[in-house]
Amino acid sequence: MLEFDIVPAERRPAEERAALLADPGFGRIFTDHMVTIRYGANKGWYDARLIPFGPLSLSPATAALHYSQEIFEGMKAYALPDGQIGLFRPEANARRLNATADRLAMPQMPEELFLRAIRTLVEADRDWVPTGEGQSLYLRPFMFATDPFLGVRPSLEYLFAVIASPSGSYFAGGAKPVTVWVSHDYSRAAPGGTGAVKAAANYAVGLLAQAQAQDAGCDQVVFLDAVEHRWIEEFGNMNVFFVYSRDGAPLLVTPPLNGSILPGVTRDSVLTLARHNGWAVQERPYSLDEWRADAQSGTLRETFACGTGVVITSIGRARTRDGEFTIGDGVEGPTTSAIRSQIVGIQRGLSEDPFGWSHRA
Ligand SMILES: *Cc1c(COP(=O)(O)O)cnc(C)c1O
Repeated sequence: MLEFDIVPAERRPAEERAALLADPGFGRIFTDHMVTIRYGANKGWYDARLIPFGPLSLSPATAALHYSQEIFEGMKAYALPDGQIGLFRPEANARRLNATADRLAMPQMPEELFLRAIRTLVEADRDWVPTGEGQSLYLRPFMFATDPFLGVRPSLEYLFAVIASPSGSYFAGGAKPVTVWVSHDYSRAAPGGTGAVKAAANYAVGLLAQAQAQDAGCDQVVFLDAVEHRWIEEFGNMNVFFVYSRDGAPLLVTPPLNGSILPGVTRDSVLTLARHNGWAVQERPYSLDEWRADAQSGTLRETFACGTGVVITSIGRARTRDGEFTIGDGVEGPTTSAIRSQIVGIQRGLSEDPFGWSHRA
């Protein structure tokens, strides 16, 4: 078994830490340590370390900087009521990292090593797991090609690392409903491309559409399918659910995993809990036209987006090049609130966990 070399950091004083944790924002402050593990085509995984958080030294020829052979994961650690630290479905992130690695011609990482890397960092920096309402320790595992070589081929060497960032609520505005902008100009992902995996390049491709959404006064961009520009795929970097009512219970509709939609852990959790609750669910193609028509007629009750960062966020309004429409009365609906409470309750160890999703770190 690959053991971690531990090089302890000089820890920041408790007072400084408390000041930073009071209002951490998202992704801007980092804990005292990080994990790094190297991979070589001839050696496999080696040189696992827990070291002080700090700059990496890289050749300007580092392959990832030129051809984007870079992938990542996003997950959270939570302070549990008994003082322990919980991770939510971490093995799902381990599996998805490997699915992404496979698509980008990168090596597989044993799930056991991935989980140990996460736990080693969380254990070292457990004082950085914030305990305030809505707060968590965001974990960012990532892996990139380190060959100092400009030829175009899969790298022979890689660096895997995990950094951790204490975080508050993802959207500065908190849980209020957001307005989304439907992009007709740009696609996020195409059939046969990398939309179904967590490749860093997918995010670069979405930035201009996101900037246009902001210019249009919206919080997030809606990506349509790349072929017909008709079917809703994702909201920014979140999966999406449309809420109807059937026989007095919620009916949830979400686009199917068609090869260009990212299989979110939160998406899967929503589907699993909805079925567990006895709600109807449909994974089927859902068009912009259907969304608009049903919002206008009132048969569509709610729309929400989901992902590790926000967990669940309500969509109040959509703006398109042809005008805008409101979902329900523009405020968060009861199904969105209920599913959020259910997931957050499990993540934070406050409610029943019928599927054994919450793991001790
Ligand atoms: C990460 C991501 C999601 C959400 O996945 P979770 O596992 O729920 O965090 C959704 N869409 C895209 C494009 C993503 O990159």
